Amino acid sequence: MSEPETPSKANFIYERIDGELKRGAVSHIVTRFPPEPNGYLHIGHAKAICIDYGTAQKYNGTFHLRFDDTNPTKEDTEYVESIQEDVRWLGADWGNNLFYASDYFEQFYEYAVLLVKKGKAYVCDLSETEIREHRGTLTEPGKESPFRSRTVEENLDLFTRMRNGEFEDGARVLRAKIDMASPNIHMRDPVIYRIRHANHHRTGDQWCIYPMYDFAHPLEDLVEGITHSICTLEFEIHRPFYDWLLENVSEPPRPQQIEFARLNLSYTVMSKRKLLELVKGKYVSGWDDPRMPTLSAFRRRGVPPEAIRAFCEEIGITKYNSLTDLSLLEFFIRENLNKSAKRVMAVLDPVKLVIDNFPEGVVEEMDAVNNPENPSQGTRKVPFSKVLYIEKDDFREEAPKKFFRLAPGAEVRLRYAYFVQCVSVEKDAQGNVSVIHCTYDPATRGGNAPDGRKVKGTIHWVSAEHAFETEVRLYDRLFTIENVGDIPESEDYRKYLNPDSLKTLPRCKLEPSLRDAKPGERFQFERVGYFCADAKDTVEGKPVFNRTVQLKDSWAKIETKDARKQ
Ligand code: ATP
Ligand code: MG
Repeated sequence: MSEPETPSKANFIYERIDGELKRGAVSHIVTRFPPEPNGYLHIGHAKAICIDYGTAQKYNGTFHLRFDDTNPTKEDTEYVESIQEDVRWLGADWGNNLFYASDYFEQFYEYAVLLVKKGKAYVCDLSETEIREHRGTLTEPGKESPFRSRTVEENLDLFTRMRNGEFEDGARVLRAKIDMASPNIHMRDPVIYRIRHANHHRTGDQWCIYPMYDFAHPLEDLVEGITHSICTLEFEIHRPFYDWLLENVSEPPRPQQIEFARLNLSYTVMSKRKLLELVKGKYVSGWDDPRMPTLSAFRRRGVPPEAIRAFCEEIGITKYNSLTDLSLLEFFIRENLNKSAKRVMAVLDPVKLVIDNFPEGVVEEMDAVNNPENPSQGTRKVPFSKVLYIEKDDFREEAPKKFFRLAPGAEVRLRYAYFVQCVSVEKDAQGNVSVIHCTYDPATRGGNAPDGRKVKGTIHWVSAEHAFETEVRLYDRLFTIENVGDIPESEDYRKYLNPDSLKTLPRCKLEPSLRDAKPGERFQFERVGYFCADAKDTVEGKPVFNRTVQLKDSWAKIETKDARKQ
């Protein structure tokens, strides 16, 4: 992201910062991305990263990556590592500014003591259920806890003993003392510390009390000198507590929270709980299964980070929740790959084609253009011989009227090679076409006829003797319905998983240059789609390929376009 592809669009966050800079309310912008290390990052997080990092960049400010690891039970170092890898891959650079909220546990504790001393927090012995019952509803005020009037001394003593491990989990909590009649439920004496005799992935058994998210987050921002704490809309209702807390423990200028609408993408889920369920239940092969909406899955599938950034830039920053169409993301992926990916020939569902009048044992080297959109990618040689493979689908015995590919008697162009005409077919015992026999016109080398005769179709091929056989996986949408988020909790969203989201083709025939594909390398298989050598299962000399995305254009359109070009 160091060189933005396009200038950033105007948005309400930039407008606000512009105003603050003008007034002198702020001078150096500091933002943070604060993932909780309890899962892998997904495309929604990418939107947040682009906003946090993009804002810091725009104002020559500072960007922090901060692990919000205050909850000991769900967090794991596996996630800490994957998150760093993904943020780096996306292109956000945190420099030396990598932080862990768990490093601030002592400071959180001191801030809590400060609140107690100010009479702004108290130890409460009500159970979790009782606290909930006392909280009231949206229409009714809450009831004050009988422990609310404890003295500062008593509170300090009890809070110290909570820290020292004298009490069981759930026996007591520390609560902010605000207003049980507040119309905002989050201001009704929220719990800020609870007892959890749990091992934390970084601090071990050092602590048995842990701060609640709403208490820890503003303090993390304060400790790090964050100026703009940008988060998703569901935190809007928590903002009064964010401000209340900072006003009680610090002087201005203070960090401020700004909310934006989260990204929802069609045909997928973004909830970490559900993603974890899919992984644990083996509905997918892991967090980086190319069907997942995680950044590691997109990477494995061959999606360039630039495409994700361009997509995030396009959707912009708004205050309204909506559902973004997956095809918009696919559009940006294609747009990027169209120019960057080398074009090669691969036959996914092969059938033999024999050129009867081509000399036995002769190999011709055909010149192929690596990317017509990007001539700097050069050309390569592709071996051509008497026996080829083409796609089964490119031949019909009984061709419909507008079928411009191969059929008995029809003539087509073999990409970068010759015109061939079908003369006969062989069939297997089941009556399926097993070999297509053609003759070629030697005068059409390179794909043009000197007599000016035209063919309507161009098909791709590989030389049977030189082709390289490998596995290709076709990935599709993970769910069959658009808005998976709309499914009520009472219904199992998993019944909408797309049973055809993965199709594995074990015996595809690829042009020989693909044998050297490096893990993660991206290609356009001409007329078929965009593919990427799988980074996990590729071994040297034997890459396997994942489909990144299909080609946008329909078969027919590509063929007529190709025919015109040649
Ligand atoms: P949970 O809190 O339920 O575990 P989360 O997705 O909010 O899940 P966090 O690790 O807390 O996970 O998220 C880190 C940051 O990413 C937060 O600031 C959050 O607002 C933002 N974020 C999460 N999901 C989205 C989304 N779909 N679109 C945009 N931003 C998101
Ligand atoms: Mg969260």
